[in-house]
Amino acid sequence: MISGRLRNTEYVINLRALRNNIQAQRAALPAGSKILAVVKANAYGHGLVPVAQAALRAGATGMCVAILDEALELRDSGLDIVTLVLGITPVEEANVAAEAGVSLTVGSLDWLTKYHQFARQFNWKKPLKVHLAVDTGMGRIGFTNVAEFDQAVKLLRSYPEFEFEGMFTHFATADSADDTYFNHQYDRWEEFINSLDELPPFTHMANSATGLWHRDKITANTVRMGISMFGYNPSGKELRADLKLQPVGTLRTAICFIKKLKAGESVSYGATYTAKKDEWLATVPIGYADGYPRCMTGFKVLVDGQFCPIAGRVCMDQMMIRLPKYYPVDTPVVLMGKSGNNEITAEDMAEQANTINYEILTNFNNRIHRSYHY
Ligand SMILES: *Cc1c(COP(=O)(O)O)cnc(C)c1O
Repeated sequence: MISGRLRNTEYVINLRALRNNIQAQRAALPAGSKILAVVKANAYGHGLVPVAQAALRAGATGMCVAILDEALELRDSGLDIVTLVLGITPVEEANVAAEAGVSLTVGSLDWLTKYHQFARQFNWKKPLKVHLAVDTGMGRIGFTNVAEFDQAVKLLRSYPEFEFEGMFTHFATADSADDTYFNHQYDRWEEFINSLDELPPFTHMANSATGLWHRDKITANTVRMGISMFGYNPSGKELRADLKLQPVGTLRTAICFIKKLKAGESVSYGATYTAKKDEWLATVPIGYADGYPRCMTGFKVLVDGQFCPIAGRVCMDQMMIRLPKYYPVDTPVVLMGKSGNNEITAEDMAEQANTINYEILTNFNNRIHRSYHY
């Protein structure tokens, strides 16, 4: 895999901020609450293994990932902790999870019976740890019917091929100022919870937004902490977070080429930008193939604490910026993060790109070198 180490562009990850964010959330929860750190999609672009290790040190009990491959990467790195795959795993591959002690999400009776058949047929011995997904209104995966859910629980408890480790639901609107739909989902969750005499070791209903804005309503012992762990606001700019969250990542590069552009001269593909007067123009080594979106054309970056506009179209691997005065090659350029008294946030970038901060973060790919600070 390409590391991008030999280019002057990096994603600087402050793991101390990550720890503070986790501890801020933990301090706001009832004593004894557990945190599962959501590290899917390369830990939202921050690097799977280093983030998982830091989250554990900060007090997380285990990890959530999206797919089994991510769980196995954690195992390969030596992390032998509770690891839950949040998506649906093909039954044919599920024995790999059982063997690795990875917990799987199950959302239907069909899946369980098929697994049970396979286990008997192929002599899969090691019990599979299961978290039952309850669909209270997200409409993505999980049981929608309490009777079927109860049947699934019976199955899990009666067959030695299974271990009933958890149950959870996921909210669709926990990041919205309007609580109506949240409350509807919450009431559904209560029906599922109340149908059991005995709860599994892990019950979880809260994502980041629920942990921030519906804390008082959490009736579960575990929180799945995703984007707030990285210091970003799950609502974008809609709601204020009442916990002190600090963004973990700074995306920086440096000037690699500088020249004076004469009035009337144009820049980049399509020649869409033309200098009105003589100006200093710098080139920086980052582009849309790194996950810095092409639609950031017209946005800004920070040089020496000052906002500088991106001049012309963002290219695949490079782009140009207009400087207020001459700066030498190697001058740092901040694309996301702080410089002097100014800051560009993931939320600012998301606004420009007409998307959400989650997508901005998960787009930064492995061509950008990541450096970790503890
Ligand atoms: C991704 C995901 C999360 C984390 O979401 P955040 O908004 O980042 O906290 C939690 N639970 C499930 C089921 C998810 O898919």
